[in-house]
Amino acid sequence: MDSLDRFLNRYEIEGTIELKTPMRIGGGQNAAMYSLSPAPAIECFDAGLGVFEPYIPGSSLKGILRSTLERLVRTFDDSKCCVSVGNKKEGGVLCGKDSCVSCRIFGSMNGGAKVRIRDSHLTDEWRSQEDRRGFLREQPHFGSPKPGKTGQMRPEESVSAGTEFRFHIDLDNGTDEEAGLILLALREFSLNRAHLGGGSTRGHGFCSIKSYSLMKLSLHDGVISREKVSDKDCMSAAKRYLAGLSGSSDRDRGFDRYWKAFSKPVHRFDDGHVVATLIVTCKTEFSMKGLDEPTVTNGLGPVIPGSTIKGFFRHKLEERKTDKKIIDSIFGGMHHRGRLIVSDAWYAGRRGIGNEYIPKGSPLKMYMVFDNMTHDEMEHITQFFETELQITGNTSAGISRYSQGVLKNRVEIRVESVHRFFAKEFLAE
Ligand SMILES: [Zn+2]
Repeated sequence: MDSLDRFLNRYEIEGTIELKTPMRIGGGQNAAMYSLSPAPAIECFDAGLGVFEPYIPGSSLKGILRSTLERLVRTFDDSKCCVSVGNKKEGGVLCGKDSCVSCRIFGSMNGGAKVRIRDSHLTDEWRSQEDRRGFLREQPHFGSPKPGKTGQMRPEESVSAGTEFRFHIDLDNGTDEEAGLILLALREFSLNRAHLGGGSTRGHGFCSIKSYSLMKLSLHDGVISREKVSDKDCMSAAKRYLAGLSGSSDRDRGFDRYWKAFSKPVHRFDDGHVVATLIVTCKTEFSMKGLDEPTVTNGLGPVIPGSTIKGFFRHKLEERKTDKKIIDSIFGGMHHRGRLIVSDAWYAGRRGIGNEYIPKGSPLKMYMVFDNMTHDEMEHITQFFETELQITGNTSAGISRYSQGVLKNRVEIRVESVHRFFAKEFLAE
């Protein structure tokens, strides 16, 4: 391990994260101080303003950055990096080897972390907003205790879409290559392959790095100088490192690498890791009762929740007697998470539409992540694209014994763009 006793240099990465969908980091038992929700989100006390407000704990961001970086490095060579989360094969222990990129940067039992990540607080702009109610909201969440069982509604707190946080990362005694690896991991958020907090498979925690700066402090003859460093040069150094690695096998579809990253895609939705940007058009008016709201919102405006859209697909596949193995792989089973990640669909038009319902004809935007899925599995979902669908149950859609006609909640999903992880492209981007 490199010694951290002596200061050689420090890279400082500072910037703004914007939430594209609501974020949920659980508050645990201490949250009773500031929330009555049965599932509160974490908050901290701002003594200056005398209020509690949401934040992203440094440890949370560090954990996600670490596993994101591990996934990238392991895609290019799984011997260069151990797995910090969910590693059952090696007993869940960090390797602590000098050759391990992740242990070197993020620390292990054998050596401290080179990287330190501060808590990310609201940006000044968001903090100065008078109407603070939008930050945290309770949303209905339909969770099934067991797969295949009827869901139960429980309220759950999350931070509104649109909220912005300032992040700050220090890398001590690092190299351009290491700083570049951290920047590449951060970029995975903007590419929708990494998500903040919990509930990401039902669409929480999509975000983007809105802006950032990279500075380097160095010590020369006892004097510390601070200068701007080119992020592109650092990322190029990191890519040269990744390009020089020997590649990983595609023997399994674990979430610790991007599957089939080295095979050129033939189909649009080919085997591998695919992020699709979709346009959902409301063919009728859409609304679905929220907890306190006439229709569910993401804090900014009405949405079709990712969990609702995902539930629709699951229901359809069950109705069609699809092989249970395929359903389990797509939606998750008792012991593993699903491979399909569906964001909320939010209004992407220009006119204001209010908070009551989504009007007929409205364009909505959403992301679907097919996480290391086969072409065949993806087709079970994409078969529903470009046809008119009734996305909610009959009650929400306003269908009853007395009104048989189609009243609302009918949509059509169309593909805007598809982005599959392909090593050659990743290194060239
Ligand atoms: Zn390691």
